[in-house]
Amino acid sequence: MPNGKPAGVRCIQLNEANMCRIFGQPERPLVCSDFKATIDVCGQTNQEAMWLITDLEQNT
Ligand code: SF4
Repeated sequence: MPNGKPAGVRCIQLNEANMCRIFGQPERPLVCSDFKATIDVCGQTNQEAMWLITDLEQNT
């Protein structure tokens, strides 16, 4: 996203299946490539991930 992705805003690169459209391509932001998904941040479902990430945002 041109000015970065604000917290809680869906990335414009996500497709309908919640897959990154630019995965593996050079324009994918480094922060995305460096992120390592863990169960404590991502949970096991999209709903859990949203809850966990929102909680992290609000408490840090
Ligand atoms: S990996 Fe990065 S660019 Fe791709 S959908 Fe997720 S936030 Fe967007």
